[in-house]
This record gives sequence, C-alpha cells and structure tokens, in this order.
Amino acid sequence: MLPIRTEVPTPVVGTGSARGFTTRQVHAGDAACGPGGVRPRATPVFLTAGFRFDDFEQAGAHFGTGEGYAYTRHGNPTTDAAERKVADLEGGAEALLVASGQAAVTVAVLALVAAGQRVLSATSVYEGTRGLFMENLPRLGIETDFVEDANDPDEWARRITPDTRVLFCESVPNPRNDLVDLAAVARVAHAHGLPLVVDNTLATPYLLRPIEHGADVVVHSASKFLAGQGAVLGGVVVDAGTFDAGRSGALFPHLVERTRLGGPGYVERFGGSARIAYAREVVAPRLGPTPSPFTAFLVAQGVETLSLRVARQSAVALEVAEWLAGRPEVLSVDYSGLPSSPSHDLARRYLPDGQGSVFSFTLRDGEHAARHVVESVRLFTHMTHLGDVRSLVLHPASTSHVLRSPEEQAAAGIWPGTLRVSIGIEDPLDLVADLEQALATFPAAPGRVS
Ligand SMILES: *Cc1c(COP(=O)(O)O)cnc(C)c1O
Repeated sequence: MLPIRTEVPTPVVGTGSARGFTTRQVHAGDAACGPGGVRPRATPVFLTAGFRFDDFEQAGAHFGTGEGYAYTRHGNPTTDAAERKVADLEGGAEALLVASGQAAVTVAVLALVAAGQRVLSATSVYEGTRGLFMENLPRLGIETDFVEDANDPDEWARRITPDTRVLFCESVPNPRNDLVDLAAVARVAHAHGLPLVVDNTLATPYLLRPIEHGADVVVHSASKFLAGQGAVLGGVVVDAGTFDAGRSGALFPHLVERTRLGGPGYVERFGGSARIAYAREVVAPRLGPTPSPFTAFLVAQGVETLSLRVARQSAVALEVAEWLAGRPEVLSVDYSGLPSSPSHDLARRYLPDGQGSVFSFTLRDGEHAARHVVESVRLFTHMTHLGDVRSLVLHPASTSHVLRSPEEQAAAGIWPGTLRVSIGIEDPLDLVADLEQALATFPAAPGRVS
C-alpha cells in the first residue's frame, strides 16, 4: 500500500551551469579559505561583527568601492557563500541573504518602488506580505493594487497604472495551491518595462525556477524549505541580472542617475545587476535586516539536501492527499498534484518533478471537525510554519488568515473546516495512520447520518 516513489529525481540543468541540480546544491558557492589560509571542507561560520583592515589605504578603498569585507551588515564570507549557492540554484545572477522572508519581500520591493508609486500584486499572497502591502507600505506613500484572478493577463494589464513599478505574485500560493502562470504575468510586466517579483518559497528552486519563466526577481522565506529543519529564520532575494536601462531606466531613475557626489550610478557600475546592487548597498544595510552568519551557515547547510527533502516531501504529500481525497469525512482536497485540482494543468507545466508538500483539505463537518483533528493528531505538529522535515497542521480560518473577512477567506478557498498541512519526510503510512485515528474518533455531529 502507498508505495513511495523512489526514482532518482530528474537532473535539472540550470541556466548558469551544465551540472545537475543535486550536484550544484552541494558544490555551488563553495567557500574559500578559512582564517589563516586553513581550508575547512564545510563553510566556516565567520561569526564576527567586522573585519580588520589591512592598512589605511585598504580601509579607504573599501569605503570607496565596497571591495573586501569590513562590517557584517555590508557583507560576510559565510553569507556570501550561501548567497552564491541560492543564486546558482535559482539560475539568477546574484542573491542577497536577509534575516527573514518578510525582510526579503520588503527589501526587494523597496529597491524598486518609492513614495507615490504603486505595487501590483496577486491577491493570493502570504498574509505577512499582504499586511505589508496593505498597512505598512501605504504609510510610506506606496499603495498596492490587487489582481483578483492572477491567471488573467488582461486583468494584470488593466490594473497597471503610470505609477506601477513592480508586479508581485507567488509561484505556489498557500493554502489553495492555485498556481500562477508565471510566463503570462511576466509577458505583461515586460510589455510595460516592469519587473516581475515572484515569491518562490513553497516551490523551491528544485521544483520551479521562476527566472526560467520570465521572472526578474525571486524572493524566498529561507525559514521554510531552504533551511528545511525549522530551526532558523532567513530570507533571500535573487535577481536575474537582466535590468535593461534602455528599456526601463526612465521608470527607475535611482538606478541610472549618478550618486549624490556625482559618482557613477548603479547601472554604470553593475549593468544588469543594478537592482540587486542597489538592494545590497542601499536598502538592506540601511533598513538593517542583516542575517547572522550562523543563519547563513544553517541556510546553506539546509540547501545542500534540498532536492532530496523536497522530492520526498512532494511524493509523500501526494500519497497523503490521495488518501484524504478518498475519505468520506473530507469534502475537498486542494493540491495541484491531484487531477481534480483546477491547477493540475499548470502543475504539469510548471511542477513536473513534484507539486510540493503544502496543501489544504476541507472537512465536511466544519470547524468543530477541524478542531477535533488538530487536537487529536499525535505525529503532525500543530503550528504555523511550513517546509519542515516534520509534518505540520494549521487551521487557517482562525489563525494565519483570521485578518481576512469571511468573504475574502472563501475567495481564498478557506472554509471553517479547512486545514492546511505541510508534509514532512516521515513514512506516509504513519502520517495516514495518524490522520485516520484523528478522523475515526470524531464524534458524529447531532443528527448526522453516518
Ligand atoms: C513564511 C513565508 C514568508 C515570510 O517568511 P518569514 O521567514 O517567516 O519572514 C513569505 N512568503 C511566504 C510564501 C511564506 O511562506
């Protein structure tokens, strides 16, 4: 029963290298020397606030060109190694590691958008991101327009105004798994000279690389699958390195103009990587969400096993989703891996190697059934997190999505009986047995014929 698919995942060839994904996840970004020229095999944790200058000239040169290491808020070798690894796996030019996924979204957006300008976002985004767009950015003079149907390119185009500076969506929104046709949204963005920023947290670069489908910037909560073991918070911004000053320079003058003192601007210094260079030099170190070098170490260490975990988690999730879909207590299962999902066709195109580990299912008997399952499971952990090697369960209507009105919850596929799970690497039979005992002990509602 429930055989696990054990075949070796298809090697994925990234845009920057001929080597397979699994090879690159352990070798890309390999750190250089340790202190004193010793050569540790693992990436050393440079747990230091700053670095000694060699001499007077080198100190001045660092402040002039940014070369070398001086202070960890501006750069650290452990952090750099993690950044090179994630950039390679996403097929991007460069990455910037920050302290959380929320910081990654904030830094990516504030590197592009100024007061008086607008963000255009899918409605199906992480609640923290939605709050940032609806409550925090407006206080800085940045408003957000929302697209109801993220798969309607005409709606994206219709909602672009002369002040719009970025299009934003998630590759795999949670909890409904209503996938977004990234290539279609990217075409609309590029027709207007605008970048598409994609939150790729739930897919991970193992399953989907948005840059290959036209995205310009990718963000992650590294707290989830990248780190993978629920021990640390982190975030990452990856840039495709494709900023085209000829096409978009007028929309982003801060990237093309010369500096306050008349020095060369970002495009002149960094070309297509002007966006991420600005994020690295001006946005992240000033706003200050610097990751600890220890965080960088844990993220890079996590990424070394990414494909193994995500392939396994996707396979186990499919087994559990199929089992749930056959249960009489379950009204519906929202998982793009199931043929019943409206996103199944998009999943075949965008997620051929697995559909991820996060999905939701809705119990017929509503909230009291959902409460019973959450309180009865023994193996699943009841908590608000995703992408852990352990399976997790959450009731979105009363927790993560409680700030949405009942109408907004319904539009997002969240009902009183909906539970979201993030499937770990456990044996699927044990997960199914845990859910089965939780469902079996559910007391029939009064008057319910069973
Ligand atoms: C968790 C999450 C975030 C926020 O990340 P933190 O690391 O918790 O700050 C952003 N986007 C998505 C899709 C997430 O799941």
